[in-house]
Amino acid sequence: MLRRINHVSHVSRSARRLRAAAALFALALVLRALSLGATERNRPSLATAQKPALLADGRDRHDERAPSCPADTLPDGGVCVPVPDITLGGEALAEQRAAHHDREGHLRVYDQIPRRPERPADYRKYQLPVPPLPQQSFVTSGYDLDLPDDEQRRGAELKAVGHGGIDLAQKRGTPVALVPLEHQVGDADVLFVGKLFGNSVVTHHSVREGSSLRDYLVIHGHLEKPASGLTRGSTLAAGGIVGYVGDSGSPGVVHLHLEVRRAREGVVLSALGPGELSRNSKTVACDPRNVLPLLSP
Ligand SMILES: [Zn+2]
Repeated sequence: MLRRINHVSHVSRSARRLRAAAALFALALVLRALSLGATERNRPSLATAQKPALLADGRDRHDERAPSCPADTLPDGGVCVPVPDITLGGEALAEQRAAHHDREGHLRVYDQIPRRPERPADYRKYQLPVPPLPQQSFVTSGYDLDLPDDEQRRGAELKAVGHGGIDLAQKRGTPVALVPLEHQVGDADVLFVGKLFGNSVVTHHSVREGSSLRDYLVIHGHLEKPASGLTRGSTLAAGGIVGYVGDSGSPGVVHLHLEVRRAREGVVLSALGPGELSRNSKTVACDPRNVLPLLSP
């Protein structure tokens, strides 16, 4: 009997607790609704939220208003939420030390950025500046600076050992169209027009990587000619004509040489001479598949 009374009393206490909890929950819902209403009124427009203006040091302006939120989060309704992907950019790409023997047999040590394992190996899965040819040989020579010395490109006609870019076969005169890189900020601008790898156009792209902006170069080489009117400082949006496929500097081998390089931190690209643009001490070769956008599936 005593046990039964205790049981009843226990049930009754539980019911009271349940009623109190329900009342508290209802009150919390009302307060949350009021708080959300206020947040919505104060929330910036979607455009502002997705594309925050950057401060000089690369932080966005939300950082100024919310010093209490950790890095890469924003205040939202009293909590810190992750910054949308669009502002995060790609992950910081790691350089790796590599080496090969040049034609004279000297060991050359250099840095390079190999393809991230999650990026597809097939070049045809990427947006490219010229349309792919149906033949298997569309990419006649791929990026190989990450391969062992004896597997890098060598040829009697070639001055250099290894290939820091990709060679895309196409018909002479085919327009070469600008491809913005993944996580690029703003339009590309032209850094150099002239002789580098035959007639070449080098474009500069600001790319958001991790929490900072990095400078990338794209070398479009062996052109028949650059696009008319293109000079240093010209800007190029997606699809803008860079030049036309040719064989300058590679007589008889009509193709586009496409090379991507990342400027080393602290290097001022505008101060570099043409010969320094592809110098390992100034810029580092990067497998183009790390930064070319993937075609939609
Ligand atoms: Zn090439």
